[in-house]
Amino acid sequence: MKPTRLSRRNLLRASAGMAALPTFAEAAEPAGAMRGVNRRSAPSALKITDMRACTIAANYDYPIIRIDTNQGVYGLGEVRDAGVKGIALILKAHLLGKDPLQIDTVLSSIRPFAGQGRMGGGYSAVDMALHDIAGKVYGVPAWKLIGSKLRDRVRCYCDTTGHKDPKIYGQRMVERKKLGYTFFKMDLYTTTVAERPGAVHQNGAATEKGLKYLCEYIAAVRDAIGWDAPLGADHFGRLSVNDSIRYARAFEPYQLAWAEDFIDWRDWRGYKKISEATTTPILTGENIFGLEEGFLPLIENQAVDIIQPDPETSGALRETKRIGDYADMFGIPTVLHFAGSPVGCMASVHLACTLKNFMVMENHAVDMPWWSDLVLGAPKPIVEKGYITVPDKPGLGIELNESVIKEHLRYPGYFEPTPMYDDFIVSGFRRVGPWPHFDEDGKWCNCVTY
Ligand SMILES: [Mg+2]
Repeated sequence: MKPTRLSRRNLLRASAGMAALPTFAEAAEPAGAMRGVNRRSAPSALKITDMRACTIAANYDYPIIRIDTNQGVYGLGEVRDAGVKGIALILKAHLLGKDPLQIDTVLSSIRPFAGQGRMGGGYSAVDMALHDIAGKVYGVPAWKLIGSKLRDRVRCYCDTTGHKDPKIYGQRMVERKKLGYTFFKMDLYTTTVAERPGAVHQNGAATEKGLKYLCEYIAAVRDAIGWDAPLGADHFGRLSVNDSIRYARAFEPYQLAWAEDFIDWRDWRGYKKISEATTTPILTGENIFGLEEGFLPLIENQAVDIIQPDPETSGALRETKRIGDYADMFGIPTVLHFAGSPVGCMASVHLACTLKNFMVMENHAVDMPWWSDLVLGAPKPIVEKGYITVPDKPGLGIELNESVIKEHLRYPGYFEPTPMYDDFIVSGFRRVGPWPHFDEDGKWCNCVTY
């Protein structure tokens, strides 16, 4: 059964098991001291009891998770777009019985299971859900758990798919501008000009001739949105360091906000060479998890001009705050990549409003008519004239719109039970207390063996 928000029944159920706990007596507290604190939960007795998921089929699949507790309070999170819910659900056994308010402790226990790219999505979804729970319990918006609100609105850039006709591409950008967007990004696949004779070298990179053709697209978009508007560009194909430098230099007259993902993010030395050879700002990061695991050498070596973590891969609120703050120490701004549902979007907004060096956040669902309808409680439309208002409601500040989500499920089932994930997928010996197994003398026992 789907837990309701702190219904009377849940309150009674929760309080039944807490006879020995202090009550939340209003008369005993100093005036104003408990204002904003949710008295209908007992933080010290809070435990994680379940994790379930469903997957929304949209422009990408959006795997949504829900972490339940013994007090009816629950948290929502999202695995990286185009990922799978199982990346989060395999962490369930490590969460059951734990106090969700011990956010750093819980996250440390699952950090060994976070990988790069989509494999960072499980950890990230759990981080979001924990901040949703903690915010609801303490009666504060999630951003307050990681920092201060430095801005009331978060600026968004709109991704825009390309077209072989530069004029039509320019027109698409005009439509974006009419929606109120003030920051733009264009996809500029090298393959767009592949059919033109002599435009693409056999190694897959544009020739000098091909680069001129690619620049025609940038010029058309510039004419559409204005030469003074920030414009990023992405999807050139995986290039060599030297070809990347050729591209970046060819783009210089157009003063791009950035050129994205020229080479693999692991090659920070290559990125440093590219960045130092051009005035076009160089950016990467959407497939990186963690500061120590990925961003650190790019930042410490100032190998890129801008980092772009995707909170659904990088570790969501808490870890991406660390990453952004660390980049700020080296004078590197943070852009947030984002292509998921409103759940991860609003989690990212909570993060974005706390980052000193925040520049802009992506919205990849500009053309999805029911995207904003997937949740309740957020402004509608969520992106208003290119900005999202930072919520002040407890937790992430949203609830799922069950009927709309059920219309767009990838698989049958809406937060069905997940007993198949009750057991550890690895490290089963970390159980606390006796467990049935062969001891070190080869005898079957229900005992503790380390
Ligand atoms: Mg990209």
